[in-house]
Amino acid sequence: MVLGLVNHERYVLLPDRLFDGKGNFLSKPAVVVEGKRIVDITTRGSVDVGEQSKVIELKGVTLLPGLVDAHVHFTGLRTYNPAEIAVVPQDLRVLRAAQDAQKALLSGFTTLRDCGGTIALSLRRAIAEGTVPGPRILASGRPICQTGGHCDTHYMPLEDVIKRGSALLCDGPWECRKAARIALRDGADFIKVMTSGGVGSEKDDPRHPQMSVEEVKAVAEEAHRVGKKVASHAQGAEGVKIAILGGVDTIEHGYFLDEESIELMKERGVCYVPTLCLVEVYRKTLENPPPGIPEWRLKKQEECIEYMPQSFRAAYRAGVKIATGTDYYGPPLRAFGSHADEPIVMVKYGMNPVDALTASTKNAAECLGLSNVGIVDKGMVADLVGVLGDPETDIETLRNVVFVMKEGFVVLRR
Ligand SMILES: [Zn+2]
Repeated sequence: MVLGLVNHERYVLLPDRLFDGKGNFLSKPAVVVEGKRIVDITTRGSVDVGEQSKVIELKGVTLLPGLVDAHVHFTGLRTYNPAEIAVVPQDLRVLRAAQDAQKALLSGFTTLRDCGGTIALSLRRAIAEGTVPGPRILASGRPICQTGGHCDTHYMPLEDVIKRGSALLCDGPWECRKAARIALRDGADFIKVMTSGGVGSEKDDPRHPQMSVEEVKAVAEEAHRVGKKVASHAQGAEGVKIAILGGVDTIEHGYFLDEESIELMKERGVCYVPTLCLVEVYRKTLENPPPGIPEWRLKKQEECIEYMPQSFRAAYRAGVKIATGTDYYGPPLRAFGSHADEPIVMVKYGMNPVDALTASTKNAAECLGLSNVGIVDKGMVADLVGVLGDPETDIETLRNVVFVMKEGFVVLRR
């Protein structure tokens, strides 16, 4: 049952178990929510139910902080064909993105960070004002990259890329500083830069660096002086180092890490969003290539598969702060609503389940700079998700979502 947004109530939630985001599990807890906040966490026996409370019995359920996907793109695309962006009208893609937002929320992901794209800027606003249902969105708006960089859509003539305005192309520190100012003017919650080639860009190599340290520094300075973070698409180790030396806060992908880049992440407290579930996506698309996917893309995917789990494991072992992000943007295998793929794949490749749950909650919230979500505690915003079963022993239970609360509103109850 999907419930509409009604007036805030006082709720007493009675799950079997609670994961608080900080590594602890509580048995037979009672979580009390008033308005948009968690006001008490106690035991079933000692909870003051009160006359005005709605009691929600969540039998067999583990309650968790609302989950976070730190890397998506609201594109409204439905195929792997790069031409879709040019032939499907923007209006239609926006409507699809609204559907994607709802799917994400109903799957227990109450916060999503959009790492590049313009739709998320308005979608964020539409959700916040109650026009459409969806998760909390942090949006970067147009990403910043060099001419010929990862987000300079190579298969289009340059003048079309500039005209479409899907990215802010810049070369040299002052141009990059101006691009950052434009992104902030557009309403960016954080800034996205591209410091390496990528899988989805035809004419570059994921291992080759892009932008210079000076260019990234100019962007980071503009973001940090207004309290905003910088995320970098960085797949090769050189690109990762440029990003970190330039002052970014999160490294996205990091497929080809070396010891030095891992050490730098650790030393500077930079978060790592490995988008590891793409290993499985890449494998499946190689086995059975979906219509429209270009040859060059398949070839690049094949080159990355071997290194992605190795880099992930090395960073995990070294103690780098890791957050979950899927890089899903709409087509099959990368569809909204399947965000639990990331913590599940992380466990498959050697992460402890409690660490994977932390990567989807507390760590991800911290990496995004959000201090009021990601853990279940008194005073925190009441973003909560209930899954049937015990994700500590079976991480796959993250797919069995039976209860979702966002900011104190019940949005799903099965
Ligand atoms: Zn991405």
